[in-house]
Amino acid sequence: MIFVLLGPPGCGKGTQATRIAQKYGLKATSTGEIIRGQMAAGTEVGKAAQSYVKKGELVPDEVVIAMVKEELRSQSGGPGVVLDGFPRTVNQANSLADILTQSGLRLDGVLNFVVSEEEIVRRLAGRRVCEKCGASYHILFMPPHKEGICDQCGGALIQRADDAPDSVRERLRVYAKQTEPLIVYYRERRLLNDIEGIGTPEEVAVRVESVVDRIARGSRPV
Ligand code: AMP
Repeated sequence: MIFVLLGPPGCGKGTQATRIAQKYGLKATSTGEIIRGQMAAGTEVGKAAQSYVKKGELVPDEVVIAMVKEELRSQSGGPGVVLDGFPRTVNQANSLADILTQSGLRLDGVLNFVVSEEEIVRRLAGRRVCEKCGASYHILFMPPHKEGICDQCGGALIQRADDAPDSVRERLRVYAKQTEPLIVYYRERRLLNDIEGIGTPEEVAVRVESVVDRIARGSRPV
């Protein structure tokens, strides 16, 4: 199964991607996380991406498309992939369709997380991520057991540089301009499933699972 998770920054798609992957035995692939890993390791790709990520802009299409192509190739023959944060432009969506067709695969569904802008700003201000494994927390809504420490690997929790207010505003602008057109794109292809993103991660997960179960049974949205 191949799923795309769509939605503005802070809508909870990273958290839900991890849950879906665990529950259905799929591989969660976050382009944002891959990029942050490359930046931390100081690779050529990481260096090229740095200035875009810091400003809250999108990294050029060809860079992320190559990343996803490689990731899907390495997962071919596996149980499936949950793509978190890719595609983010119509050009990326067209490339994904081409890559899948060339591999004899198809996109099973797109989960579109719907959350108001007000709620997003509130969530991003309190978001913390593990600098070691990338796990995501919220100081109020999803705190770690021990303050500042990742439950999963014991790494330090930090605020992402691009969660600073100026970057958040830019990321929301970029989302509206470059990524939101994908809602129509996937609705026209009858792949879009809206998910109300308000509530606890557990409440949202119940909605997600009912959609994923329906898709796994083979029925598409009308
Ligand atoms: P995320 O962790 O998904 O919020 O992504 C963090 C940052 O990584 C974004 O603001 C972009 O700068 C970059 N990024 C992640 N995914 C993509 C993508 N599909 N296309 C372009 N840039 C991306």
